[in-house]
Amino acid sequence: MGGTEFIFGSTYVLIMFGGVLLAGAGGVASWLQKRRARLALMSDTEGGQCIACSSAETVELHPDAWRCPSCGYEQGAGWQRRRDERRLEKLMQLSPEEASKRAQAALLDARLMLTGAVATFDRPIIASRNPNHRNNDWEVNPDLLTAVGDARTAHKGLQEAGMLDTDVAKALEKAGFSFSEPFPDTDPLFDGTWRSTIESCARKTKVDVESWRVAAVSAARSLGLDA
Ligand SMILES: [Zn+2]
Repeated sequence: MGGTEFIFGSTYVLIMFGGVLLAGAGGVASWLQKRRARLALMSDTEGGQCIACSSAETVELHPDAWRCPSCGYEQGAGWQRRRDERRLEKLMQLSPEEASKRAQAALLDARLMLTGAVATFDRPIIASRNPNHRNNDWEVNPDLLTAVGDARTAHKGLQEAGMLDTDVAKALEKAGFSFSEPFPDTDPLFDGTWRSTIESCARKTKVDVESWRVAAVSAARSLGLDA
């Protein structure tokens, strides 16, 4: 999603820049007309084609939430927000005992996922497995996608655990987990053509993931959750 925003951001800059050139050449009126047309095109793009089946035109159901009529796939930032809101509402209805149980389980799940994910960030690049490639050819470690997914789920899990139970929140905070720090930008791991970009992003991400793992381990221990 960060990637999409970036593309939209840079498209906007390009349009503005192009607009200035056009204004000089063809007059302000035609520039405004073209700019409006381009902006209309841009706002449709996110709905536009279905990411899942890439065929049909999607139908806008809510501002920034579209559904594909042929395969039912839902896309747009609006869907995730609505899902998050609904989940939050459900969690808030739990009894304190249930909430506490949920929080402890989420903490242990996160610890497990982070332990599994952290090592992959040490090996973001692997030797190319394509037999036609030369010896020094490389590719992005295919496990990286899973590792980033697990790290993201675990990060969300820790935040949710803290929200559900103040003891868990305090234990995590004491162990160095920051509830306000967002998940790091991992797009360069998958957008990068440059080995050095991928490696430096993996190094940075690993520092975060490792710090969450340490916090989860320490919080679970201080809460006496280790069987
Ligand atoms: Zn579709």
